[in-house]
Formats: sequence, C-alpha cells, structure tokens
Amino acid sequence: MSSKDWLEKDFYAVLGVNKSASTDEIKKAYRKLARDLHPDRNPDNKAAEEKFKATSEAYDVLSDDKKRKEYDEMRSLFGSGAFRRGAARSGNGTQFDPSDLFGGFSGAAGAGAGAGADRRFGGTGFSDIFSSIFSGGAGPGGAGAGPAAARRGPQRGRDVETEVTLDFVQAVRGTTLPLTLRTPGACDTCRGSGAKPGTTPRACPKCQGSGMISSNQGSFSFSEPCRDCQGSGSVVDEKCPECRGTGGVTKTRTINVRFPAGVADTQRIRLSGRGEPGDRGGTAGDLYVQVKVRPDELFGRSGDDLTLAVPISMAEAVLGTDLKVPTLDGPVTLRVPPGTPSGRKLRARGKGVVRKEGQAGDLIVTVDVQIPSDITGEARDALEKFAKLTPPPGRERLDARMRRAG
Ligand SMILES: [Zn+2]
Ligand SMILES: [Zn+2]
Repeated sequence: MSSKDWLEKDFYAVLGVNKSASTDEIKKAYRKLARDLHPDRNPDNKAAEEKFKATSEAYDVLSDDKKRKEYDEMRSLFGSGAFRRGAARSGNGTQFDPSDLFGGFSGAAGAGAGAGADRRFGGTGFSDIFSSIFSGGAGPGGAGAGPAAARRGPQRGRDVETEVTLDFVQAVRGTTLPLTLRTPGACDTCRGSGAKPGTTPRACPKCQGSGMISSNQGSFSFSEPCRDCQGSGSVVDEKCPECRGTGGVTKTRTINVRFPAGVADTQRIRLSGRGEPGDRGGTAGDLYVQVKVRPDELFGRSGDDLTLAVPISMAEAVLGTDLKVPTLDGPVTLRVPPGTPSGRKLRARGKGVVRKEGQAGDLIVTVDVQIPSDITGEARDALEKFAKLTPPPGRERLDARMRRAG
C-alpha cells in the first residue's frame, strides 16, 4: 500500500471507530466487520468483498502502533495545511508546485561557502513519505488538498534547512557569510491565485468549490481531494503568465549569517525567525544551517585545540632542539627537550580557537621521530660507534621469562 493511499483513506471511518479508539475497540470493530463482510457469508457480493478488503487494510494500519502513529501524524500534518498555503479560493493564498518542497530548493553563498539545501520536517521522516506521494503521479498539486484546507488561522512559516561548507580557517576564526535562500512564495502578479490579472478563478464545478469529493458506499463514507481542481476548490481559465497558473514563484533572499569562532563540522546553527514567512499573520519559521568544515592539509582540530604533527630526527629527539612550527597566526618556536620520545605532545598556548568570551584553545604539536631506513658512510660509522658506546636497554624481565619457558 502506498503512502498516497494513506492520505486518501480514512481508516477510522472504515472501521467505524473514532480517532481516540483504543487498540481493543479497534480490534472489536474489525472483528465484527470482518465477520459480517466475510466472503463466505456474502457469496458473489462484490460490494461486500471490497469493504472486506478495505476493512483489513484499515485494521492492518490501525492495529500496528507504529503504523498507526505514522498514519495519524501524516494525516494531521497533511490536514493542518502544512503542505498548502491557503487555497486559491481564499483570494490571497498561494498554490504552489509540491516539487518546490522537496527539490530545487537551494541555498547558495558567496565567499567560499558552497551550499546545497533541502528541507526537513522536524525529524519525522515524512519527507520520504511525502516525496513518494509527490512522485506518485498525482499530478502537480495532487497532494495539496485536505479536509483542513479550509482552515484559516495564522500559519507559522516553515522551517528551512540549508548547508554551508566553511574553510578550516573560517571555522576556527569565525566568519560572516551571505546566504542566498530560494523559497517558494506567492506570485505577485496574480497574488497567488494563478489566474491571469483581470480574470478570477471560478469555483470548481465538480466539487462546487469545496475541494473535496465525498462518496457514500453503504455505511461507509469516503472523502478525497477533488481531482479536477487538485483540491483547491477553484479552476483557472486563463493562467497567470508570470507563474503559469501555479500561483507560486521562487523568491530569492539573501541574509548574512555569522558563524562564531570555533564552529564545528556537523554543527547545526538555528536562526530563529529566519525561515519562511508565516501566512495570515503567523510567525516566521526558523532557519537551520548545517555546517560542514573542509579539513586543512596540515592542522587538525580537537575541540578548541588545533593539532599538528611535526617530524623530527632521531638526533633532535635525543639532543633536544628548538622547533619552529606554523600556527594560524604565524610561526612560533617550541623547545623540544633532550630525550624526547616519539609521540610526545608539546603545547603552544593560546594558538587554538579563540572564543569571543576570551578563552582560547592551544596548538598541540605531536613530535614524530623519524628513523632513517638507509644510513651510509660517515653517518653509519658514527652510529655504529654510538651503538658500541651505549649498551642496549636492560631486558632482564624478558630474559627471565625466556629462561622459565625453557
Ligand atoms: Zn501568478
Ligand atoms: Zn474540484
């Protein structure tokens, strides 16, 4: 069963229970219907057979807590008008192409901020469900209708999510970037009606302007969006040339977004009220910016500390040395004490992420002692002399174990 079916079918009505019915009530209702409608009892009764099937389908969803929850959420989301911004017949609403919802919606940015965008719906995972509805061939606007399309209260604008990629240094220091957001809005030429200026949409003759078609089959009643007007309740004879009758256009707006010093890869920044504007006096949605940080070829990051690996020679490790290393603010010199083992960490204080509040991370330098694999000539002679002069480290405990093992 496709998700599209879910939108069009009222499983509660099919089972004759109300929306708050308990699992037991649902089971009872189903059992009774299944008994009454069973093909054995209704031989050659096509209508009973259809109802029997519809009953099983409804029970299949409503008896499964998880499916029922998804179904309820989907119906309420759909019914709340979240997917339509007023019908054309409201005069000032917006019809829009559902494809705007899921694709072709991109935030772009200047100054090195690559961006792609999509929108999410509060983590409910419904975008998947809805994209399958929208791709289900219902035609443009086919998903638009719902019983609650008639709801006329203020509607909060949708949240918008966009993605921005920052350079490593931009993320460490913080930066402000202009983000260009494309969001669907009402066409100014026709004020969202989709009708050519000077003409007005007329009530859909099929559904008499209600946007819904109801049909009764015995004791069952079904409501579904009118297919002639895609549930908008109105039909347009002469299409608006600007939006080609959709009533919606893509609007571009640019906002400056400040990324604080130390913003991290995968961090999500919420900008309250910078999402889509609300409808009919509703508040605006929020803008979520998903941050990606491009790695640096040298530096790594660990929280507010920067990290850097520096190769040193065996002799430098043994004798000690002053090591000049780069930081984001120019080179610093670190003292490598004599007898430094490979892997030791040295710290350049305050050379990490500097927060606005004042605290700062460090640059942590890890020394990596290089062992020559090929040593010849005088260097080899010198090392052999060194080897003679320095006995190998004591391995008494290992020797003892080997003796014990026989
Ligand atoms: Zn228009
Ligand atoms: Zn209609």
